[in-house]
Formats: sequence, structure tokens, C-alpha cells
Amino acid sequence: MSGMTTDIELVNKDGIRIDGRTAEEMRPLRIEAGVLNNADGSAYLEWGKNKVLCAVYGPRECHPRHMQNPTKAIVQCKYNMLSFSVSDRKRPGPDRRSIEISKIISEALEYVIFTENYPRASIDVYIEVLQANAGTRCAGLTAASVALADAGIPMKDLVPAVAIGKADGHIVLDLNKEEDNFGNADLPIAMIPRTGEVLLMQMDGHMTMEEFNTALEYGKKACEKVYEIQKDALKRKYSIQSEDTEEPE
Ligand code: ADP
Repeated sequence: MSGMTTDIELVNKDGIRIDGRTAEEMRPLRIEAGVLNNADGSAYLEWGKNKVLCAVYGPRECHPRHMQNPTKAIVQCKYNMLSFSVSDRKRPGPDRRSIEISKIISEALEYVIFTENYPRASIDVYIEVLQANAGTRCAGLTAASVALADAGIPMKDLVPAVAIGKADGHIVLDLNKEEDNFGNADLPIAMIPRTGEVLLMQMDGHMTMEEFNTALEYGKKACEKVYEIQKDALKRKYSIQSEDTEEPE
């Protein structure tokens, strides 16, 4: 979100966005759980043009040992955007942005995982963005909690996330790349629908208090939808598996 002024019309006079969506419409979201054999848990997610793969390892002994916490597990997330994930080649390796996103995702996940069950352990969450089109931190966090559940790690709940923003002065749900680049504000949130707890909230740009409240309302409803899709991914994986393991009559 750069807040750059351009001639691009992001929302037309009928309230329709450049990808044909209305203000409160989310891009199509598809999640598949358990896509990697070698990881303890995994998930693949497509959200509009975003494509994200997540692998979870652990709980396993934390190395180096000085990082161990004797009372609980530590959650270490590594968010990474592959070089070919954006139209210009992205320089490989960690940068300020990916370190920041890794930190906020780790903190959101640490809040829901029963870390006290696993003293001295590490729970490692790898998020690889294969294709990026705005909203990848929300996509990464959404995929990560599904992968953690797939790994059988006890959690208070799943963590759905979504970004709300402002484009051409309108509050819009789930920003695409153009809206992120040329819009007025970007507000990624993660919220547990059951309790209303907010586990992630960042803000780039400006909104009035009224706009902020509308954005939160949009975000809350969207998190409920994302949550259902997360649960459905897990149900699909485990119902297929239980059918496979059933004894033939
Ligand atoms: P998020 O992906 O959570 O929205 P940002 O707002 O920081 O995070 O980034 C918005 C979008 O900008 C990304 O989803 C991606 O499409 C693009 N982007 C981010 N970093 C780069 C980069 N180094 N090169 C090209 N595009 C990038």
C-alpha cells in the first residue's frame, strides 16, 4: 500500500471493483489440508491469485538448546516469498518484510497453540508464497493454522485472517494487488469468530473511525467465512482418510 495517486479507477460509479467484485466480496478461497508427505502437517491454499504452501514440523526438540523454553514450546514461523512469486524477480532470502511477517504470524499462532504442553520443544511453521497478489500474510496465517491442526497440534481454535482496505475512498474487503498498490489503506486482521479475539491487526494508511468500524464489521464476517473453509478442508482430508482405512466387508 503506497497511497500513490494514479488515474486508475479502482471502484467504478456502480461500486464495482476492477476484478468485478462488490465492496464486501472476497476473492475465491480454496484450502487443501495434508498435501505433503514428509511434514507433520501441511496445507495448500489458493486465494484469488495468491498461492501458498505451508508445512509444519514438530513439536520437536528445539535447537540450538539456548533457545529452549523450559515451560513451553516456542513457535518459529518462517514466511518466505519465492523469487518467481511476483512479476519482478524477488531477491531470494529473508528481508525486513518477511522477518516482520514471520514474527506477527508466530505470535498469532503462539496465542492459540497449547505451548505449555510441550516444554523445551519447537513448533516450526514454514510458509512459502508461490504466487503473490496482496494479502499473503493473511493467506499464510490462514494456511498455517490448518497445517497445525493437520499436524495434530492441540490448539484453542483455528485462526482465520483477511485484509480489509480503502480504495478510491470506499471500504473494500480482501484487497487485490492494484488496490493494495494504489489504494488509501490496508488493514489485515485475524480474528477467532467464536470468541471475537483479535490475534493480528496492522494498519497502513488512513481511515476515519467510522470507516474503521465498517472495515472491522466486513473483516469479522469474512473471518467467519474463512473459518468455515478451513474447517471444511480438515473435514475433507480426514473423512477421505477414514474411508480409506475402513476394512472391506
Ligand atoms: P501482503 O502480501 O500481506 O498484502 P504487503 O502489503 O507487504 O503484504 O504486500 C502486498 C503485495 O505486494 C504482496 O502480496 C505482493 O504481491 C507484492 N510484493 C511484496 N513484496 C514484493 C517484492 N519484493 N517484489 C514485488 N512484489 C512484492
